[in-house]
Amino acid sequence: MERAVGIDLGTTYSLVATAGKGAARVLRDANGDGRFPSAAFFGRNGKDALGWDALHRAEHEDGDLLLSIKRFMGRGAHAARQDPGLRSFRLAAGDDRMVRFHVEGDRTVTPIELSARYLAALKARAEQDLGGPVTGAVITVPAYFDDAQRQATKDAGKLAGLNVLRLLAEPTAAAVAYGLDRPEHDNGRYVVFDLGGGTFDVSVLAFERGVFQVLATSGDTALGGDDFDLVLARMLLRDAGWDDPAGLPRVLLNQARAAAKAAKERFSTEERVEIVFAPEGGRPVRRTMTRQEFHVLVDPVLRRCRAPCEAAMRDAGLTGADLGGVILVGGSTRMPVVRAFVREFFGREPLLDANPDEVVAVGAALQADLLSGGDRDMLLLDVTPLSLGVETMGGVVDKIIPRNTSIPARARTTFTTYADGQTGMDFHVVQGEREKVEDCKSLARFKLSGIPPMAAGIGRVEVTYALDADGLLTVTARETTTGRTASVEVKPSYGLTDAEVEQMLVDSMDFAEQDMESRLLIEGRVEAQRIIDATRKALREDGAMLSAAERRSVEDVTAQLEVAKNARDRHEITRLIDALDHATAEFARRRMGASIQSALKDHSIREFT
Ligand code: ADP
Ligand code: MG
Repeated sequence: MERAVGIDLGTTYSLVATAGKGAARVLRDANGDGRFPSAAFFGRNGKDALGWDALHRAEHEDGDLLLSIKRFMGRGAHAARQDPGLRSFRLAAGDDRMVRFHVEGDRTVTPIELSARYLAALKARAEQDLGGPVTGAVITVPAYFDDAQRQATKDAGKLAGLNVLRLLAEPTAAAVAYGLDRPEHDNGRYVVFDLGGGTFDVSVLAFERGVFQVLATSGDTALGGDDFDLVLARMLLRDAGWDDPAGLPRVLLNQARAAAKAAKERFSTEERVEIVFAPEGGRPVRRTMTRQEFHVLVDPVLRRCRAPCEAAMRDAGLTGADLGGVILVGGSTRMPVVRAFVREFFGREPLLDANPDEVVAVGAALQADLLSGGDRDMLLLDVTPLSLGVETMGGVVDKIIPRNTSIPARARTTFTTYADGQTGMDFHVVQGEREKVEDCKSLARFKLSGIPPMAAGIGRVEVTYALDADGLLTVTARETTTGRTASVEVKPSYGLTDAEVEQMLVDSMDFAEQDMESRLLIEGRVEAQRIIDATRKALREDGAMLSAAERRSVEDVTAQLEVAKNARDRHEITRLIDALDHATAEFARRRMGASIQSALKDHSIREFT
């Protein structure tokens, strides 16, 4: 029997679930725990460990504990270097396309390989539980994951021997688990508030005519339960006599982190918690803390949730009153202080009947069941996190698919040839919000050749951008008279950091005005060059139609435009373009007349009537 499963490949924990006949269940380990820590440990004795085993060994044995590697999926070493926090990675040098970590035993591993190991472990769990092979899987990804990150996730699935039926946005999966994909919820608007271990994502979804759309996403890729642990761990280390955690042994840091995390989780159900931390070589710590004291301690972390919530609601153009519900996702939403924040911010009680740790896996399983059964035709839509565009003349970006467009998506634009007899056209596919190519991320370049030679402006090339349901992009260029095509599947260039994605969004807002100005200048220059070229060509071919004085006046304005084109005043360029238009109007009329005459010469008048 073949079964499809849903997998929540989480930053901190991963889960696998199956569904059949509408009911979904999370598959558990021998201890009844559905969560599989997304953790790997590489010890001195050469044996590796995954999941709970990895976490336990890291508290007793020196070695490399790799955590939260999801934040490095599809990223270069650059991103890893910037990652904040108390981490125990050792970066392997010199790979800026795909990050690699050094681990014990003189080896290196990539985030894709590690993810593949977690996926393989979950696959094995499912096969054991179901008593048969699992081949298909729906794997969830954050809604804002870009092309490289999605591709990396898919690659990990393949490496684990899974047939990845679909990558599904985590908030969409949560909404599916809540059954919000039913006709009675048509026109609903929902917020999915997902505070996990290392990341915070807030998404606004709409459900319309059987289709989910992600209206807006925001978040903080460096905010999660780990940050709550960290403030508490720092306090414990200070109490034990270490003011500065830098340079402390890894085992000690892991112990402090584990103690802090356990205490934090107890505060979700207990009003006061006795924290014991007795590390070797330090003062033993034993203190009772109230929930109130804990809340004061973590308040600076909690506050960081506000701005992303505001951004998502603003992007979606909604207020709390427009919402049909707020869904809590992620283990950290079990914290009462987080729930209180959600209640206060959105002005309503969050939906609470599903388990926040499991809701994403459950939604993925329901979707996997649909896709493998194929009996219901439901389309789940996501949005693209950054605009996709093409470079045009002068290094300006023409946005083909704007940010936050629902996917799958397809959009087309037409280019004309810009030189006489041009037989090839180069395309540069870019991603980002800025107006100029140099400020965006380059995704791919390709060339369409074999365009039949024609006069400038006559050859037409249609460029189509197709984003599939997994968010992967194919760009095709097609010359319309011959039907010649060239296309490129955008191969991810593993390396756009989350910080870069955010920076690109921020920049596009800060620089919008300045960008517009430089865009207009560039466009003016391109237009000026086009007119100068056309005028010179006309003078060469038909200069004899002008008197010496007329010719001088045209040449004069052309020269002035040439000078203005190289300066920065776009208004002056526009003025001179108009002036040249004016100066050449009579010339153009005469040339037109001449060409009609010569056309008429060889044809009878009847052909034209
Ligand atoms: P992921 O980041 O993989 O999406 P989860 O959504 O499972 O992870 O969230 C993991 C985080 O949830 C961890 O920081 C964990 O400490 C926290 N967490 C789990 N249970 C509780 C709890 N009862 N109270 C507070 N935090 C919790
Ligand atoms: Mg999660």
